[in-house]
Amino acid sequence: MGRLSHHSKSKVGRRRSQLTLKKPSLSVCPQCKGPTFPHRACPQCGAYVKVSKKKAVNKASKDKA
Ligand SMILES: [Zn+2]
Repeated sequence: MGRLSHHSKSKVGRRRSQLTLKKPSLSVCPQCKGPTFPHRACPQCGAYVKVSKKKAVNKASKDKA
């Protein structure tokens, strides 16, 4: 058998510290204010996020004499 490659307790612990499941990142629905997944339609109301990067462009406010 021989000596297999030895892992110290700290090295095993460091590896196993990566085995945990991370929390899924949630965003907030702009319509029903419920938790939704980003880049997905809302499971409650079915709304898809399009509002966040809206540019406010005012073209009609210029009047030249
Ligand atoms: Zn919603």
